[in-house]
Amino acid sequence: MSDVLAVTEHRRGELRDVSYEMITAGRELADALGGDLHLAVISGDVDEYADQLNRDGVDAIHTVAEGEEFNHDVYSQAIQQLYDQTGASALLMPNTVNGLDYAPAVAGALDLPLVTDAIGIEPNGALTVTREQYGGKVETTLDVDADEYAVTVRPAEWPQADGQGDADVQAADVDIDDDAVGSTVNGFEEVGSGDVDITEADVLVSIGRGIEEEDNLPLVEALAETLGATLSSSRPIVDNGWLPKNRQVGQSGKVVTPDVYIAIGISGAVQHVAGMKGSDTIIAINTDPNAPIMDIADYAIVDDLFDVVPELIEQFGGEAPSV
Ligand SMILES: Cc1cc2nc3c(=O)[nH]c(=O)nc-3n(C[C@H](O)[C@H](O)[C@H](O)COP(=O)(O)OP(=O)(O)OC[C@H]3O[C@@H](n4cnc5c(N)ncnc54)[C@H](O)[C@@H]3O)c2cc1C
Repeated sequence: MSDVLAVTEHRRGELRDVSYEMITAGRELADALGGDLHLAVISGDVDEYADQLNRDGVDAIHTVAEGEEFNHDVYSQAIQQLYDQTGASALLMPNTVNGLDYAPAVAGALDLPLVTDAIGIEPNGALTVTREQYGGKVETTLDVDADEYAVTVRPAEWPQADGQGDADVQAADVDIDDDAVGSTVNGFEEVGSGDVDITEADVLVSIGRGIEEEDNLPLVEALAETLGATLSSSRPIVDNGWLPKNRQVGQSGKVVTPDVYIAIGISGAVQHVAGMKGSDTIIAINTDPNAPIMDIADYAIVDDLFDVVPELIEQFGGEAPSV
């Protein structure tokens, strides 16, 4: 019997979706190992977070109320101590900017083998982890021949846990050595324009190279405004400097999971799909019926975006600009 410790994540006062996905991944692993699932909740309003994370499948929640936001040294120390205290033999961390910041340090300090960016985890005697390589073109499985291990879990690969749980919530007896905390978070500055976070949007109107020129952007901006959606894009649009980096969806951009993702003039390259395949409903607008985006689209309009988008704007009560 082996327990699992999964680390949750929050940012600027809100739990991130990946925290609920960690519960699903952690529960699956704990079931396979015949053990309990423990959650680590570190920094900020830990009681409120613990309340929200108390979902079906969680056995225990350990809170560490040190600091407000993410801090590498606080997280590293807290996770190491929680891992020892819970007696877990598997450590799951989110494969996010924060998770990838502390995971190697924690795994190193605990002397655990670390596998990053898992999209599948299965203990078959040894632990088998599935990963993607070559920008998602190849899936590989990796056997970890160890009794204890650490894995970072890719966001949006597991569904979010739901249902009220009855986990035991306890303030952990963790001792943070302040002398070993080498940095402090003084504030936040958003990258790019405004404070748009495309990962939080319910509806994304996403534009690709099919838009042809920057001067045509007002057309899709008008559609986004008419639908109450947020504008995102494929990488070439960002590389051209037409939209800021925080709008880019994909492997080297953001992973999004909106209710509706409207891909306009986007071919659906693997690096793009890696960032949006978790969307609930995918609508593609593309002149090419054989574009790869069609393989994952729930609905498709095979037509010229310069005809379709103005029509959609009008149908939804907006006014299409002339471009
Ligand atoms: C290491 C690496 C990381 C990468 N990371 C990312 C990433 O994070 N995000 C990302 O998006 N890409 C990423 N890429 C780039 C990726 O490989 C593709 O080049 C990119 O996604 C293509 O963008 P696109 O679909 O907008 O353009 P294209 O592939 O050129 O597709 C344009 C589409 O528009 C359609 N079209 C053209 N005109 C019209 C029209 N008038 N009406 C309707 N449809 C039309 C075409 O049929 C075509 O399907 C990465 C690449 C590498 C190597």
